[in-house]
Amino acid sequence: MVRRRKVVILGATGSIGTSALKVARQIPERMEVVGLAAGRRVEELAGQAREFGVGHVCIADESKRAELQALVPAGTTVHAGAAGLIELATLEGADLVLVSIVGTEGLAPALAAIQAGKDLAVASKEILVMAGEIVMREARKAGVAMLPVDSEHNAIFQCLEGNGGSGKNVARLILTASGGPFRTWEEKDLSAVTVEQALAHPTWVMGPKISIDSATLFNKGLEMIEARWLFDVEMGRVDVVVHPQSIVHSMVEFVDGSVLAQLSTTDMCFPIQYAVTWPERVAGALPPLDFAKLGRLDFEEPRTEVFAALNLAREAGERCGTLPAVLNAANEVAVEAFLAGRIPFLRIADLVGEVMGRHGLVESPSLEELLAADGEARRVAAGLV
Ligand code: MG
Repeated sequence: MVRRRKVVILGATGSIGTSALKVARQIPERMEVVGLAAGRRVEELAGQAREFGVGHVCIADESKRAELQALVPAGTTVHAGAAGLIELATLEGADLVLVSIVGTEGLAPALAAIQAGKDLAVASKEILVMAGEIVMREARKAGVAMLPVDSEHNAIFQCLEGNGGSGKNVARLILTASGGPFRTWEEKDLSAVTVEQALAHPTWVMGPKISIDSATLFNKGLEMIEARWLFDVEMGRVDVVVHPQSIVHSMVEFVDGSVLAQLSTTDMCFPIQYAVTWPERVAGALPPLDFAKLGRLDFEEPRTEVFAALNLAREAGERCGTLPAVLNAANEVAVEAFLAGRIPFLRIADLVGEVMGRHGLVESPSLEELLAADGEARRVAAGLV
């Protein structure tokens, strides 16, 4: 029997959300959209709600509730604010919640969805970076599936299937990194990088925050921590290799020396579709890889002496406690400041390192302690800006 998943999308108007709706158009027999939430873009959200005939919509910006209400068909239930996000995440009848809200706003709805017994498709890596230990513990307790939508983690998830999971069989998880737009730049040229240059990612089309994170390699750093929690391996077994073509989405090296990799065309619709149809595969709209045309796939060592993000993330993932949350929060503030033209490009990593250095680590933190560390890191980072 074909399983048609009833899906709620949190972050529907963003880059991942719109790709998810593309998937819903391609495989309607597998995916029914039952709830949509967005941050501020009321008209776009209302248009999506009309197209997919969803019963529930949510706008995170409370002040836009009436505007949204006026735009959606009669009978559509309108939710708003942080409480509205929780209502959508726990919507009766939904069985899969895609969390693709930028930043840490997705944490509370993700936990609520898990506790309500929904499977989670995770696109917001901040959730696992900030509170990976708690989120994974809750997911195990609730018996729900954690389906990674980040292309690297989706690749590792596929490589581990049928291979005994990530336990003693796994020597290393190898995350591939495109290297971003400045892969070959000399350090002295990076001090004058403009916002436009940093936003121009060579292989992926993404939102501004993740594009800057790809340029600094903080995106890969966050993904190292994300992998550590998602697959329950210590940081020493998480590695990064630069692969400029973004065709190999990540790899798993097993203890016998064998390496499995997942390859496909570079399109976020693929990991989203797999999260929806898992554990089955269905025909999709991805063009097949033409290896002869590709000709070659390159791999190189990441330049950690230029891109400090990887070492900072490794340190945070090794020491754990509140430190990953602090790294993530400081980076969010620094990226915003860079996008606003308030700090130069290379200052982003320096600033994150300084905030981490000033932080008094709390081991095995509660959710409240994590949120407090997040808030404190934001204040310290803003002061440094
Ligand atoms: Mg990724």
